[in-house]
Amino acid sequence: MAGEYTIGIDLGTTYSCLAYINEDGETVVEKNFEQEETTPSVILFNENGEIIVGSPAKDMAIMYPPERIVTAIKRQIGTDYEVDVDGDKYTPITLSAAILRKMINDFNDNHGCEIKKAVITCPAYFGQTERDATKAAGKVAGLEDVTIINEPTAAAISFGLGSGTDSKKRVLVYDLGGGTFDVTILEIDGTSFTAVATDGERLLGGKDWDAAITKIIKQKVCEDNGIDQDELDADDDVRQTLVLDSETIKKRLSTAESTKGTLTAAGKKAVYSISRSEFEIATAPLMQTTLEIIDRTLATKEFTIKDIDEVILVGGSSRMPQVKDGICKKYPEADVKIYDPDQSVAKGAAIFSKSYSWDGSTAAAVAAAAATGTEYVPEEGEILVHNVLSKSFGIKAMYDDGEEKISNIIFRNEVLPIVAIKTYYPVDDGQTSIKVEIYEDSASNNDGGNKTELIDGYGVGDFEMELPEGVTRSTPIMVKFTATDEGILVACVDCLNQHTEYQLQNRLQMSDSDIEESQGLMEKVTNAN
Ligand code: AMP
Repeated sequence: MAGEYTIGIDLGTTYSCLAYINEDGETVVEKNFEQEETTPSVILFNENGEIIVGSPAKDMAIMYPPERIVTAIKRQIGTDYEVDVDGDKYTPITLSAAILRKMINDFNDNHGCEIKKAVITCPAYFGQTERDATKAAGKVAGLEDVTIINEPTAAAISFGLGSGTDSKKRVLVYDLGGGTFDVTILEIDGTSFTAVATDGERLLGGKDWDAAITKIIKQKVCEDNGIDQDELDADDDVRQTLVLDSETIKKRLSTAESTKGTLTAAGKKAVYSISRSEFEIATAPLMQTTLEIIDRTLATKEFTIKDIDEVILVGGSSRMPQVKDGICKKYPEADVKIYDPDQSVAKGAAIFSKSYSWDGSTAAAVAAAAATGTEYVPEEGEILVHNVLSKSFGIKAMYDDGEEKISNIIFRNEVLPIVAIKTYYPVDDGQTSIKVEIYEDSASNNDGGNKTELIDGYGVGDFEMELPEGVTRSTPIMVKFTATDEGILVACVDCLNQHTEYQLQNRLQMSDSDIEESQGLMEKVTNAN
């Protein structure tokens, strides 16, 4: 079976997981070299020039200066963040690639193969730049073919197929991971999965609950032992110990009503105890934020919780009892299930990988059907995934009051592929050219999102177009935006007989030679002895 494995990888902010389909057709999570089913997404650059990933990196972090440790790199993906270690520069792409490389190396060693393709998951709200970056990370890690699907969709695939039912249902996936939170509403019809709404908070996750524990520990240790909090804050060893211990204490509180821990600070060994209820009170605002995001997501489709057949909790942080309790209390009528929180995303990705047509034939057939206004009918067992656009896109336009605003053309939460046309007019008679400036923003179609202030958007590209001779202020200029299944945006502008087409470029896109060069860095990824 060498080289033939179908692989799904959940590249998580705090933990990553690799699943595959075994010889018997079962979806299995692969244990890494350390014999764990999930790999901490922690990277350590040691003094021998090696890159260590996973638990050994996490455990040894305390012995190294912070600049040699990278955590939560997923939060930086799509940005121009860079770290320089021993003269080599690492971007979020190469750092994510190091995590992937470790998992792939472990799989290859265990199965005596060399995997070349995989489905990698990303949060539903990732825009095109972040998706391209995730794909590039797979390539740098040595994969030849990479496909990206959304984490909540993967969880639903694992759930939808795992539950052995092919009836129609609408589910809400609540995904609270280590560093990110998102809510996605999906409609499942047999093996077809359509995301109809998604929302989230990029910077909310288990790490914030850990920080609340750290705060409680510090307060208790200082009060009970007469230690000055500033002194504690300035102690690097305490800071690093608390990062690890806070997570451990938090996890224990998922099963125990209270727990104890020790901290050596200011020369004293302090013992502290924390109860679940203290923890829940301290983190109630965080939990409340997640509930508000559920409401916000339902509202974008004018749904109430009664329109949702099941609420599925995924992400490791969903194990905290406050999550299920909080949701059940706020929505007593909801059917809430916690479902394989650490592994469902990777498993769903592996299941999708099995049915995915890597030669692009399904994508072409879906696009061809869409172009003729018909719907592609999947083959028996074939999984079809439809995503929503994660941002709204529009152009800068001058309004009658003389103000420039973003005139949105396609909207966040519309199901891909999308084609939309809007008509504009030149500002002056005899105008010879126009500059089309494309913006992305978070406006929503059903809350008056047609116009957005420039300051609330983000310029993503622009181009000039010559106008034909003789245009007047009443000559229509048609701007057509097409967002493909993968969320790639193409803008077409037509004015009389003039036609211009523009595909949005990704400023962080890696060339083949960049990828090849970065692949060299992956030689350094090794398991700790
Ligand atoms: P994920 O990104 O989905 O792998 O989730 C990782 C997050 O889940 C981390 O913040 C973990 O600390 C958290 N987590 C894992 N297990 C538990 C548990 N038993 N109780 C509370 N949080 C947990």
